[in-house]
Amino acid sequence: PVILAIESSCDETSASVIRNGKVLNNIIASQAVHQKYGGVVPELASRAHQQNIVAVVNEAMETSGISKTELDAIAFTRGPGLMGALLVGVSFAKGMAMALNIPMIEVNHMQAHVLAHFIDDPKPSFPFLCLTVSGGHTQIVLVKSHLDMEVIGQTQDDAVGEAFDKAAKIMGLPYPGGPLIDKYAQSGNPKAYKFSETVMPGLDFSFSGIKTAFLYFLRDEKASNPNFVEEHVNDICASLQQHLVNMLLTRVRQASEQTGIKNIAIAGGVSANSGLRKELKALGDKQGWNIFIPSFEYCTDNAAMIAVAAHYKYLKSDFCSLDVTPLARMPLS
Ligand code: ATP
Ligand code: MG
Ligand code: FE
Repeated sequence: PVILAIESSCDETSASVIRNGKVLNNIIASQAVHQKYGGVVPELASRAHQQNIVAVVNEAMETSGISKTELDAIAFTRGPGLMGALLVGVSFAKGMAMALNIPMIEVNHMQAHVLAHFIDDPKPSFPFLCLTVSGGHTQIVLVKSHLDMEVIGQTQDDAVGEAFDKAAKIMGLPYPGGPLIDKYAQSGNPKAYKFSETVMPGLDFSFSGIKTAFLYFLRDEKASNPNFVEEHVNDICASLQQHLVNMLLTRVRQASEQTGIKNIAIAGGVSANSGLRKELKALGDKQGWNIFIPSFEYCTDNAAMIAVAAHYKYLKSDFCSLDVTPLARMPLS
């Protein structure tokens, strides 16, 4: 099958064409408009999606070398995400599906983050565990097959991507701060500072405490040295990143022990973090795990992962009707 997929859940407008399970392209328009507000402004995101979507879809169609009449289905992100942002993608997909008289496929954005592992080789074999870490989610997912997934641990408050972004904001860095913390951390000492941690039961996480702890830590240090952040930004970022990565990998190790599963993957925007990638490789070597880390292009939001999810749903004739509506919250199973 040939499928056009559209992603518009947050602040990336993206389109991708997939043919027989092979992703042909992955066009992404990122929205710079949110930077000066220190976070994604939902109404501005919707408007930017509306401005970008025609050009992004056109580029995906043109560079694929496939004509619209050859498409077998249109796929879109139904949720979870920002309602207004999702609505742009869903409405566009409806219009196109109606005009071409082809079926629509709804995709769960978090399932798609996991399925980013099926874009390129090596592909994980089932069952595997996926640590999905992004701007809105922190989950440990037991993946039984392409479309059968179960969340076995998750955050009870903030997502780890949020913790990165909020810590960056507290330091006065622009949004999204995660990649900047990563950059500064590379020249810093991860053992320079220690932070306290809220430990949740089972395989769950909590990241709201670190935000407050970090705020007070900087306030106290700045009381004696007003230039503390400027002078020590590398060490601060390295220590914070180490702390967050430790919290994540502790749970992954426990999840592997509990389930006996040694195929371990990471996905979502925070899986682009170089500290997490490095530490996971080291831990994997020690534990004898098979590690799966997506290429950078497929960590943060993209339509290629939506296209792969749609491919597997197409094979099961899992289509949706034209009156489908987006879901701001949408559970994985
Ligand atoms: P969700 O997928 O939960 O709906 P989202 O789509 O906004 O949320 P993604 O696009 O998958 O999330 O990821 C964005 C997040 O990834 C941001 O919080 C960003 O700071 C973080 N991020 C991206 N690159 C890095 C990095 N190198 N280090 C740390 N965090 C990073
Ligand atoms: Mg984004
Ligand atoms: Fe995402």
